[in-house]
Amino acid sequence: MNRDAAITAVKGIGEKTAALFGKLKIETVGDLLAHYPRDYVQFPVAKEPSELSEGETAAVIGRVLKTPLVRQTQRMPVTMTTVGDADAPLELVWFRMPYIRSQLAPGGTYVFYGKVMKKNGRLVMEQPVIYKREQYAAMEQAFLPVYALTGGITNNQITKAVRTVFAGDPLFPDPLPAEIRNECRLCEYNYALRQIHFPDDMDTLITARKRLVFDEFFFFILNMQYHKEKRVRDANEFELKNETFVDELMQRLPFALTGAQQRALSEIRCDMRGPYTMQRLIQGDVGSGKTILAFLAMADASHSGYQSAIMAPTEVLARQHYATFRQLCEDFGLKIPVVLLTGSMTARQKRMAYESLQLYPNAMIVGTHALIQEKAVYDNLALVITDEQHRFGVRQRETFAAKGCHPHILVMSATPIPRTLAIILYGDLDISVVDEVPAKRLPVKNCVVHTGYRPKAYSFLEQEVRAGHQAYVICPLVEAVEHMDLENTTDYVKKLREIFPPEIQLGLLHGQMKPEQKNKVMEAFLANEVQVLVSTTVVEVGVNVPNATVMMIENAERFGLAQLHQLRGRVGRGDAQSYCIMVNASQSRTAEERLLILNRSNDGFEIAAADLKLRGPGDFFGIRQSGELQFALGDIYQDAAVLRDASDRVQRLLAEDPELVSPEHVNVKRYMERAAQEQENQLSL
Ligand code: ADP
Ligand code: MG
Repeated sequence: MNRDAAITAVKGIGEKTAALFGKLKIETVGDLLAHYPRDYVQFPVAKEPSELSEGETAAVIGRVLKTPLVRQTQRMPVTMTTVGDADAPLELVWFRMPYIRSQLAPGGTYVFYGKVMKKNGRLVMEQPVIYKREQYAAMEQAFLPVYALTGGITNNQITKAVRTVFAGDPLFPDPLPAEIRNECRLCEYNYALRQIHFPDDMDTLITARKRLVFDEFFFFILNMQYHKEKRVRDANEFELKNETFVDELMQRLPFALTGAQQRALSEIRCDMRGPYTMQRLIQGDVGSGKTILAFLAMADASHSGYQSAIMAPTEVLARQHYATFRQLCEDFGLKIPVVLLTGSMTARQKRMAYESLQLYPNAMIVGTHALIQEKAVYDNLALVITDEQHRFGVRQRETFAAKGCHPHILVMSATPIPRTLAIILYGDLDISVVDEVPAKRLPVKNCVVHTGYRPKAYSFLEQEVRAGHQAYVICPLVEAVEHMDLENTTDYVKKLREIFPPEIQLGLLHGQMKPEQKNKVMEAFLANEVQVLVSTTVVEVGVNVPNATVMMIENAERFGLAQLHQLRGRVGRGDAQSYCIMVNASQSRTAEERLLILNRSNDGFEIAAADLKLRGPGDFFGIRQSGELQFALGDIYQDAAVLRDASDRVQRLLAEDPELVSPEHVNVKRYMERAAQEQENQLSL
């Protein structure tokens, strides 16, 4: 099957389903295969009824002694039977499924799969799924893929579609030359694709993943280096006046800049007045105060009559920057027009924003990807900034820069990575590190707890809210997912509604909501109209609500430490003492130990390094270090060795064949271009 074939070419996918797949950005067969599982499940080993405990989701072997009983209650038929012996009975109950009765032969042994509950002192499974014994035995071995979903599409549908593709003709040519593959000990491409979706076992999964991660890194670095070789440094054509202006603003800030902020700022100001245009990365841990640097650099440009623009990865963050910048201009009495441009604005609002771009040659422009769309035409753009850069591709950065005439480029990232890796990943940029957080801030108090602690946590949240503060509660899932025993925002908010008194307003925020809805919720939270925000990790980047003092993270064991660190960075931003409650729902000792690392350190670099030491190969799945979208599979921390390999191999390849013209490299070049394109398409707001 051709990877560019439309998804409708897959048997069983019609226009309607294709439209749903479209929502997941799956348009072609290639997209479908690149929609890697986000996790895998293995069915639990089937137990005896005596081994069950309350609350677990389990598979149980049971012999059905008598034909099940069907009771006709007023509301519905209820089918019931009991398995196990007198010492350890397990009641099985099905609602509205009277036909179950004829499915279970008396004397037959089956496996029942479901959640174990206690009712009237007895263990009960409601609506268990029924399997024949042999059928379940086969399932116990397999890894089943769990895919990211969207409304209307089930995990089964995706699984089936992927299986159908693999059942067809052999697939794609391997993008890596055999030479590189052999040298770096990587498996074949189609094998890797198949195994990443349907692994035979853990070993093949690791092998497959390594290959695909290598590809991601390799083509990413190649794309960057290939273009870098061709780029000459641009002369700085902008004339900035009056150095003292920024100094004056600094004097009037309500706080003194940290030493690290001052160093970074002077590097920026120096670049902007240097012979070549600036190409700089500001790398600074969460809460190190990067936004104010962006503002001062933009004000500097404005003061000299130039436009500047800052692009944020989410609507929420863009709107927040917009509000901050307007406030700062007002506080400073600056007459700088601040313009907002985001995807969710109405056509009319957008038109007005476009007009402002033409009207104000010294505007500060704040927005999302909408800033780099065709219709946004700038006048006099001297500085472009991308905030939380790791969410954007290199190409996007270039598209952004192309909106001006060789503007200064500033990139801000909170990803705590060691300098050596930063040089690989941002090879084309100069780097400033903001390695200090404002001193007067109180460090966040952390605790790692088990689920039994929840009632206490809720009353603590309530107490904080009564004291005028706000709280975040983070869940890994948006909605319940079959077979995954993880908390989800939708049910969680309902649960909290019953627990908290009605005067506490709750908000719900997740990535599947429409941008306008998200904005509304976030604005309500900012205005303290919502006190407790139940959210997925969409709040992970950049959001700044200094009044929030509690970050409660459910299923903390499922998040990477760097990601937890980012989440924790959402509190501790104001003067009040803040708290981070990490709920570990697993029994695993390693999970506990990992989480305790966060207790010991507030330093992103240290955390990432300590985390790596604790991991085994099996931990690669289901845990992601950070919410970075840049790589579908690769994780710059845990795959640091692969990253270095890929980087070395790129250097050698380009040294041998800088134009990638030799016959065995033509394919590589083609794939590099398509990977860059795909990466861009996958980036979402
Ligand atoms: P990040 O680096 O994570 O983007 P922000 O720029 O959002 O951090 O800053 C977090 C908070 O710290 C903001 O409320 C900001 O006003 C404040 N802040 C920034 N610099 C300082 C400083 N030098 N002293 C005190 N507070 C500061
Ligand atoms: Mg920020």
